[in-house]
Amino acid sequence: HHDLPSKVLELYEGIKMKDRYCLAKAITLVESIRKDHKTQAQQLLSLILDTRHERAKETGDSISTFRIGLSGPPGVGKSTFIERFGMYVLSQGHRVAVLAVDPSSLKTGGSIMGDKTRMPELSQQDNAYIRPSASHGTLARNTNEALILCEAAGYDVCLVETVGVGQSETMVAEMVDMFVLMVPPAGGDEIQGLKKGIVEISDLIVVNKSDGVFASAAREAVTEYTSALKYLHPSSPFWQPRVIKVSAKTNSGLDESWKFMQDYYNIMKSSNELYKRRGKQRKLWMWRQITSELLDRLNSDKEIRNLVDELEQKVFHGEITSGIAADYVVDNFTHKYNVTKTN
Ligand code: GDP
Repeated sequence: HHDLPSKVLELYEGIKMKDRYCLAKAITLVESIRKDHKTQAQQLLSLILDTRHERAKETGDSISTFRIGLSGPPGVGKSTFIERFGMYVLSQGHRVAVLAVDPSSLKTGGSIMGDKTRMPELSQQDNAYIRPSASHGTLARNTNEALILCEAAGYDVCLVETVGVGQSETMVAEMVDMFVLMVPPAGGDEIQGLKKGIVEISDLIVVNKSDGVFASAAREAVTEYTSALKYLHPSSPFWQPRVIKVSAKTNSGLDESWKFMQDYYNIMKSSNELYKRRGKQRKLWMWRQITSELLDRLNSDKEIRNLVDELEQKVFHGEITSGIAADYVVDNFTHKYNVTKTN
């Protein structure tokens, strides 16, 4: 390791010591778009991966953390739930990290979630780490890498929160062990309106606000979601998705939620499904990174960029097909870098 920059080594040591300042700095590093930062981030992640691999060899246990995704529409009670639920999981002897994937920040630069102040009590705890989403687009890939950093800093339960907007839910589902969907205490037409694809990828559906005037609506929602799930293909043969009701306000159902999550974790882990799921996810992220890296390189090449601009015009006016234009760009790009086509 002696050829690594001291900054990387310091961060690595700090993270191992569970130093949250170092963790925060490391996450900032993986979020950075600067080339030297990117290199350092990969060096740091490689060190962590090696350590992890070594430990897995010693203990024979390759998975020792639990990644939970939580999604739901704005106002459903995600932050209230995470605050209460996080406190409960802490009381069970775990260390909890909360990360946010905020789709709004990508476009607007503003943030609609992930703010530390949304979880005032949890953020005060020694064994909790809350990462507010970066103001300039927390890309999902960065969150994926931030997860690894949090785990290395000893957070064994990691929650990844997102709002049900655009692609963010799928992205989150692709980086966690378990995907939890939080829904309001409403049924009927509202369930119809919910994106079917999201229910389909959910391992657990949590109906929040099952208190006071919402109590009976919540019960109905549980029944409706349960029957809706019957018609969907479960994402794993080992787990039948469940629906439960909770109240983040009155703390009811927190223990039950955790119990279901642990059941899921134990079943998926002992059947080796979790190992496979994480493996598949890593391959997927590799391809995501290949795609984005290639696009970056293509776009940063001035000559190619000029060619693209020219071809875009032609495609716009329907002078050439988009397929031919695409081929032409890729051919030019690969020839320029002396990469020969294999087919
Ligand atoms: P988020 O946008 O999904 O993070 O939702 P918030 O956690 O900010 O909650 C939105 C609103 O719902 C707030 O006014 C909360 O106080 C309220 N809320 C959250 N959980 C519950 C609950 O279990 N019961 C009731 N009655 N209100 C809740």
